[in-house]
Amino acid sequence: MIQLLINGSNGRMGRALVACAAEDPTLSVSAEVDEGDDFLSALAGCDAVIDFTHAPATAAAAEACAAAGKALIIGTTGHSDADRTRIAQAAGTIPIVYAPNFSVGVNTLFWLTRKAAEILGPDFDLEVVEMHHRLKKDSPSGTARRLAEILADVRGLSYDADVRHGREGMPGERTRSEIGMHAIRGGDVVGDHTVIFANAGERVELAHKASSRDTFAKGALRAAKWAIAHPPGLYDMQDVLGLR
Ligand code: NAD
Repeated sequence: MIQLLINGSNGRMGRALVACAAEDPTLSVSAEVDEGDDFLSALAGCDAVIDFTHAPATAAAAEACAAAGKALIIGTTGHSDADRTRIAQAAGTIPIVYAPNFSVGVNTLFWLTRKAAEILGPDFDLEVVEMHHRLKKDSPSGTARRLAEILADVRGLSYDADVRHGREGMPGERTRSEIGMHAIRGGDVVGDHTVIFANAGERVELAHKASSRDTFAKGALRAAKWAIAHPPGLYDMQDVLGLR
């Protein structure tokens, strides 16, 4: 039986994780931890930690997991570059699966996006559109960011320099090198992502729509089982699914 600490257990994803873990006979939740609870004491009794909290909380959790030798699954998004560096350092000591999206469908979308960008080539304009519920705190979503990073990688562009977030005023004609990024917020949308490849005369759109948080929760639980059987390192869901 694998013992899991769920960090952020009172949140939307935390609740889905606790419910999905209860349906898996190989998993047990040893601790449900939320803001203000004693994370360090709860660490001792688990084999792995699953973190779906808020961006500022994750790096310290990763360092505590590294000190305790516990595998870590990070679903939280919106980290700063400094946070990402601290997470990568912790992965020198423990296995960390750090993924902006744990759904099998979205990881297939990542794979398809790379293939489409390679096949369609530089004549196609690239745009990413995402929609999430009104309570989401970070923007664009970590999944949209990853999609843009894949596009930038294929095209030899940079996320920081070439992604254009929304357009207003008189931005002028679209440049060939920019990757458009558009974040829509409203209602209770769990997570929609579309990648648009547009050329004169034709357009390709790859889209994924999540309708239940259980898809992310089940993926994160699968990642936890995978992580405890692997050496220290920084992995993502493509590794867990064998899509590399
Ligand atoms: P939420 O706001 O419903 O829940 C977050 C929970 O974390 C809250 O209960 C909050 O009290 C708790 N929390 C905040 N700081 C904490 C701390 N220091 N220690 C412990 N708990 C703390 O948010 P949500 O919708 O559950 O999403 C959580 C995160 O997961 C977000 O960053 C979101 O973007 C991300 N997310 C990722 C995926 C994925 O597949 N990777 C899927 C959905 C959501």
